[in-house]
Amino acid sequence: MKHKSKINIENLIELASFEVSEEEKKQLENELDEFLAYAHVIDNAPCGDMTPSSHAVEKEAYMREDEISAWDKVEKIMGNSPVTEGQSYLVPPQKTTAVMLDDENEESEKPYDGELEPVIGLEVHARLKTKSKLFCSCSTQFGDEANSNACPVCSGQPGVLPVLNREAVNMAIIAGLAVGCTVNKHSVFARKNYFYPDLPKGYQISQFEEPVCSGGGVDIEIDGKVKTVRLNRIHMEEDAGKMVHVGAPGIWGAKASAVDFNRCSVPLIEIVTEPDLSSPEEAREYVTMLRAVLVSLGICDGNMEEGSLKCDANVSVRPVGSKKLGVKVEIKNMNSFKAIERALDFEIVRLKKMKQKGIRIKQETRGWDESGQKTYSMRGKEESQDYRYFPDPDLLPVVLTDEWINSLKDRVTESPLNGKKKCIDNYSFSENEARLFMVNPSYSEYFEKVLQYYDNPRALANWFFSEILSQTGGDMGSIHITPDDLAEFLKRIDKGEISGKIGKDVLKKAFTEKKGLVEIIENENLKQETDTGVIEKIIDEIIEKNPSQVAEYKSGKTKLLGFFVGETMKASQGKANPKIVNEILREKLK
Ligand code: ADP
Ligand code: MG
Ligand code: ZN
Repeated sequence: MKHKSKINIENLIELASFEVSEEEKKQLENELDEFLAYAHVIDNAPCGDMTPSSHAVEKEAYMREDEISAWDKVEKIMGNSPVTEGQSYLVPPQKTTAVMLDDENEESEKPYDGELEPVIGLEVHARLKTKSKLFCSCSTQFGDEANSNACPVCSGQPGVLPVLNREAVNMAIIAGLAVGCTVNKHSVFARKNYFYPDLPKGYQISQFEEPVCSGGGVDIEIDGKVKTVRLNRIHMEEDAGKMVHVGAPGIWGAKASAVDFNRCSVPLIEIVTEPDLSSPEEAREYVTMLRAVLVSLGICDGNMEEGSLKCDANVSVRPVGSKKLGVKVEIKNMNSFKAIERALDFEIVRLKKMKQKGIRIKQETRGWDESGQKTYSMRGKEESQDYRYFPDPDLLPVVLTDEWINSLKDRVTESPLNGKKKCIDNYSFSENEARLFMVNPSYSEYFEKVLQYYDNPRALANWFFSEILSQTGGDMGSIHITPDDLAEFLKRIDKGEISGKIGKDVLKKAFTEKKGLVEIIENENLKQETDTGVIEKIIDEIIEKNPSQVAEYKSGKTKLLGFFVGETMKASQGKANPKIVNEILREKLK
């Protein structure tokens, strides 16, 4: 159907101040006709089966390198804030969470008196060790002055655009490869909308329907039995800011809360298990193993006190033998391994009691109260639709190639359980020693470095587990003794140049004075005395000074040898070679 233009073309030309020929006028008229005809077609088009999409043309996300660039002064960023305290923004106290809710409105159901078993699934958030944030180039440094690492992007100013950090994506892929996930070649960032003062944008950028990794599993070992805890997914997301409550130790009774945006948009991965864990002990062991994996990969520092690793626990109970899952509750705010185990212990008892009494369990989010050692109701559990998830239109999909994924494979380290087995088989560690290495990847990292210069792992282990660990308190990150220095020190002990006793003193001194081991041995002339002439002279003096002991020894009290050895060692300031001392003493006291 031909649609006739109703617009007076003369007027149009006049209005637009066009200068056109007769021919051009004709052409314009035709084009306008076609345009209006098409508009008419669209007008009548059926659109019931069209699915809306956020990206008309799908392209790949643009990514930036992991580099820091400071944006501006704190004062400028805080310029619009009405109330501040120190370097933080002040917000009123949170009414909704300012009370511990009572367990009220109990609905009843038929009491259950059979045996019940717990079912647990964990969601672990791990902070990635990138230098800069997930979508901007602010520093991720923990503990910096409040709001000194914030910019218009991470503090949620209008009109800014997020740009994805490539290294954060790399780290998420590495985590996925290490635990046998499928790395998805196409994943999408979504907005999770909710309101809270630590979330300046009003939404968290996370992944929802299309996470970066799917499937996989983490092996845990309990009483020598290995169990694979299946993973559901690993997705990337940004962290929220930090709130410090003013006027009270926690949120309860606080007059206000001070908000620090430094943590906003720090990259996290969330690792979600299937409901595969069947005891608090297994849950604790799973987090221990997962931490070991992430720390040894070098992608997370695993510090639970600083919140680098956080865990939400989902738990339900069901009749033993039943395949159906019970109604779950989610527990938050546990910030140690012990807290995870305790909170679950508490909650399982509570849920079982409810079942036995015939009180209906409702899905909710509960908090762990560390001082009261109990869980409390925080809010009814929100469903995913409450967050109005949708793909973030500012970020294009993350598109990965095989080449990219494969190039990260050499950053994947050995699994913790394999590492543990290696310690037992190759280094003759005890089970306990091997476990210590497994849960503290920094130990094995240092140990392996020393072994590049020294080839007796068992001798090294003896020094490591007693002296080194007690001096460092287990914090291997701050050790000043270089692996080759420690190796050289051990070689000198093996050669008998210094005694074990002096070695211990040297080590202590090295730590208190922050000096090198070989440096101390050389400077203080601590080399062991092996010259028989010198040792003989010392022994002669001792024998002369102790005639009665000599007589007793000669009359059969040979136990006194220890006394003479001790005196000789003392006189030589511990430097005499004990083997030579023993030989000479036996000879002289005959
Ligand atoms: P939500 O949408 O509430 O976060 P998910 O299905 O994403 O729930 O599961 C979150 C976590 O809870 C997962 O680790 C999952 O294994 C675990 N989970 C789900 N249902 C149960 C249940 N009935 N009992 C125990 N854990 C569960
Ligand atoms: Mg969830
Ligand atoms: Zn920023």
